[in-house]
Amino acid sequence: MLKNKLSIQISIEGKGDKSFVVPSFFVKYWKKLAFSSLGLIVALFGVIVYLATKQKEEAITSQYTEALHEVRQKNKLLSMRKSESEKEIGEAKKSFNKIDSTLESINKKMKKRGLKTIVLENAGGPVEADEENIELMSSYYEEALTELEKKLENLPIGIPHPGRITSKFGYRRNPFTNRGREMHSGVDLKGRTGDRIKSTAKGVVSFAGYEGDYGYVVKIRHANRYETRYAHLSRPLVRKGARVAAGDIIGLMGSTGRSTGPHLHYEILKNNKKINPQKYFSF
Ligand SMILES: [Zn+2]
Repeated sequence: MLKNKLSIQISIEGKGDKSFVVPSFFVKYWKKLAFSSLGLIVALFGVIVYLATKQKEEAITSQYTEALHEVRQKNKLLSMRKSESEKEIGEAKKSFNKIDSTLESINKKMKKRGLKTIVLENAGGPVEADEENIELMSSYYEEALTELEKKLENLPIGIPHPGRITSKFGYRRNPFTNRGREMHSGVDLKGRTGDRIKSTAKGVVSFAGYEGDYGYVVKIRHANRYETRYAHLSRPLVRKGARVAAGDIIGLMGSTGRSTGPHLHYEILKNNKKINPQKYFSF
């Protein structure tokens, strides 16, 4: 037994000698053992490094996968948002088209009344507004225009005849005696007998016939306590109770009643009070 073992004595200062018994092959093969141990350690270290790297790689891969997933998710969201905003823009364009058609009908009404047409900037043009505001903006315009259209329909805006104004609303010299002043409660528009006279707003005919100084006259009642009167006609073309729209022909120009020649005497009343019609001639 001892033949294969070696006694090694180590002297440590202050503590005396200590002896170890080690197998002899340790001494004989220590170099090989040391090398193989070193090899094992290196291998182990390698494995650890490999495992660590692998783990890191896996971590990176999972991170990458996660990131990719996120990116894909974001992309999906983006494309969804894109389609949503495209939808929004589409709806906005529809709304703008509605505005255009409303504007067109308003313009038609303006033309009927002999007024200049209105132009809304950017309507129907390229939509370059903030996407979030598009819907709000368009609905605002839509409401505003619808409201405007309603008001326009009922307001006596525009002219009943395109003739030149020969006498304004207000005090004027008496046209018959050329002496003294008299109140002229309307606007006189020059023309020819038989010229077509148009209603300036939607309403109901409250009178159509002969009445003193007016001669043949048509009176139309409108919403919001407005009334229009068309006097000195040669002939009324509507009857009492008839519903008329703005631009409808309600009579023909003449010189009946207290008149010096063919012209239309046009009046607007608000709350039964005669007001200056010229203020309503333009939009
Ligand atoms: Zn007059």
